[in-house]
Amino acid sequence: MESTFAIIKPDAVERNLIGKILERAESSGFEVVAMKRARLTTEVAEGFYYVHKERPFFKDLTTFMASGPVVLLVLQAENAIKKWRDLMGATNPKDAAEGTLRKDFALDIERNSVHGSDSAENAAFEISYFFSQTEIVR
Ligand code: ADP
Ligand code: MG
Repeated sequence: MESTFAIIKPDAVERNLIGKILERAESSGFEVVAMKRARLTTEVAEGFYYVHKERPFFKDLTTFMASGPVVLLVLQAENAIKKWRDLMGATNPKDAAEGTLRKDFALDIERNSVHGSDSAENAAFEISYFFSQTEIVR
């Protein structure tokens, strides 16, 4: 079993899509092994996305991620990292395949409703950035 880190982003929480996104995760075979609602500060968002700090969209992205409540998740499944990225779809909803979360829910390339780790190394960093071991119940 593998774990990945996911976020239901502010644009999705604002539109009351928490339940729909969790339903899609569970019905796709993920187990929610940790979950909490949070309001990120820009500093916390900057630390989370530090790999993108040189990118032109970094300031907008971190401001967006701090603009409203989010839901932080640890999802467990076989091949959870790739499986969740497949369910999310492409970063830009214009490129996202039918049946993906971003195709169905994202507003644009920035406000794209969900985050998912892109590697085992990043999943470990991202999970530990937000959750302590006692908050993860497998
Ligand atoms: P992903 O979330 O699909 O892994 P990235 O890691 O490349 O995508 O980017 C992180 C987040 O930054 C994206 O999910 C999106 O919210 C935002 N983003 C990415 N590219 C752009 C862009 N060109 N303009 C605005 N925001 C972007
Ligand atoms: Mg990424």
